[in-house]
Amino acid sequence: MERIETDLLVIGSGCGGLSTAVTARKAGLEVIVAEKEPVFGGTTAFSGGVLWIPGNRHGRAHNPGDTREAARQYLRNETGEGFDAAAVDAFLDAAPAAVEWFERETEVRFVPTLYPDYHPTVPGGVDIGRSILAAPYDIRGLGADMARLRPPLQTITFIGMMFNSSNADLKHFFNATKSLTSFVYVARRLATHVQELVRYGKGIQVTSGNALAARLARSALAAGVPIWTEAPALKLVQQAGSPSGPVVGAVIRRNGQEVEVRTRRGVVLACGGFPHDARRIAQAYPHLRSGGEHLSPVPTGNTGDGIALAESVGGQFDLRFPSASAWMPVSRVENSDGSVGVFPHLLDRYKPGVIGVLRNGRRFCNESESYHDVGAAMVEACRGQPETAAWLVCDATALAKYGLGYVKPAPVPHGRFLRNGYLKQGATLAELAAACGIDAAGLERTVREFNVHAAKGEDPAFGRGRTAFNRYLADPTNQPNPCVAPLAQGPYYAVKLLMGDLGTFDGLRTSPVGEVLTAAGTAIPGLYAVGNDRASLMGGNYPAAGITLGPNLVFGWLLGRHVAGVGQAGNQAGSAPQEQRHAA
Ligand SMILES: Cc1cc2nc3c(=O)[nH]c(=O)nc-3n(C[C@H](O)[C@H](O)[C@H](O)COP(=O)(O)OP(=O)(O)OC[C@H]3O[C@@H](n4cnc5c(N)ncnc54)[C@H](O)[C@@H]3O)c2cc1C
Repeated sequence: MERIETDLLVIGSGCGGLSTAVTARKAGLEVIVAEKEPVFGGTTAFSGGVLWIPGNRHGRAHNPGDTREAARQYLRNETGEGFDAAAVDAFLDAAPAAVEWFERETEVRFVPTLYPDYHPTVPGGVDIGRSILAAPYDIRGLGADMARLRPPLQTITFIGMMFNSSNADLKHFFNATKSLTSFVYVARRLATHVQELVRYGKGIQVTSGNALAARLARSALAAGVPIWTEAPALKLVQQAGSPSGPVVGAVIRRNGQEVEVRTRRGVVLACGGFPHDARRIAQAYPHLRSGGEHLSPVPTGNTGDGIALAESVGGQFDLRFPSASAWMPVSRVENSDGSVGVFPHLLDRYKPGVIGVLRNGRRFCNESESYHDVGAAMVEACRGQPETAAWLVCDATALAKYGLGYVKPAPVPHGRFLRNGYLKQGATLAELAAACGIDAAGLERTVREFNVHAAKGEDPAFGRGRTAFNRYLADPTNQPNPCVAPLAQGPYYAVKLLMGDLGTFDGLRTSPVGEVLTAAGTAIPGLYAVGNDRASLMGGNYPAAGITLGPNLVFGWLLGRHVAGVGQAGNQAGSAPQEQRHAA
């Protein structure tokens, strides 16, 4: 078997892996990234590219009153028994410096967002300032490696064009038929995109998570980190004659051959958790245990390899959080070529004239809370039933204004979705209920009761519109409550929701910096985990937009510095030009 030596081997090329790799490289280490898929970027490249990083310099400009103590208090309140003081402190201490370092030393750039925390009324929560967004990127900056960037998630693009999670972009698309400014904006965006399709066969100006993955990859490649693709890690190598000894490398399959990569500083597991590990999720997800279905938009290569590799050398994985994953209500999109897409319901649930009901026709939660909260409510409401499902129901006015799921607002036609069964229609609520297979009397009663209060902009049952976050993705022109309007005018429409996820929360037990720990709590020398391979800082909760990517980036930075010895006594980082060590 061929043998290669390097300082650090990073397995996986999402935000966790690439941020670790670029940091370690800039601190002087020789680094290789091995990625299993033909494309790099992982789930990160599919994502909204929003990062929750309290104390970041962009947020400080918007909300100078926010403090580290408030962010800590918020995390304590949100994570409850899962609060990990040491890891939280490490994250909050490093967060501002990490953002400044990436913006100064790499191609990564951020822009502020207007996102409130998801529960801004919980003590320590804020209405603005902690969530930032990766700045758009022209992927020609990747040169020939542009072809190896994972393309965006098809279901959340429009003819392959990405929207920007900043929200301003989307507002123009929703208003294109009502405002000249928005019409011109949309026409320009579409014209540029069509030109790019003709010239390059894909969009070149990417946004959101695709921009984050591209920027991190460009930074790593430019610093001299090779990103091997189609290069799965198969097993870890331990020091000879020492079955429980230090990890000194891994076997990678590359170009059809097994290569032993020997490491002087260690191996970093950054394989993006276990969303497609059928065995582990069957154990972890209550809706699968009761015979239901789960549809994940996460790339299918995230099969829990990092966790299995760690376990093979004594690393400890626990299923201990209240939610094993970040829940995302999704719908199944049947494409004309027979393939199936997964649509994450990121925007429609917040809108007035849209409600969510169970098979009995009853509402079950505040639909304008986050995807995770709605997902958790769905899991709870369907617990023990054979199917975990709900239906988003709206009237003709809401469908035309906002679309529903994968169905776009007017004037984009929706006939194809009625024909393929994605969108259900009924002239009356009873007809709609029959088309969906839900209880007609229950649905009629629900809408009747909802409408009485909705006419006044109220939702006494679940309090929609009560927080800045509820209203953030709603319709500000709908007053007095941007989230609430009666379902007045038939025909009525519905899309079926199933349970999906954005990534897993449970993971490997690690020290704050990311050393993989055994069941006894001791660190396995030479083995580290980052990103969703390590147990989430959020303890199985979802406090804000960007709570996976934010910690993934910051812990990647901390880990890269740790393995390189930056900021520690006896720093021995070696083989590349040293960065200026003033970032901490
Ligand atoms: C539609 C969508 C929107 C989202 N939006 C946001 C958002 O705005 N903000 C946020 O914080 N989170 C968001 N998330 C979640 C977020 O994208 C993930 O939590 C995050 O990207 C995980 O990063 P990671 O580095 O741990 O893993 P990934 O980015 O998934 O990278 C892991 C990589 O490891 C590779 N790999 C796996 N096994 C092996 C192996 N054996 N050998 C080599 N490589 C291997 C995989 O192929 C993959 O490329 C979103 C998720 C989705 C699906």
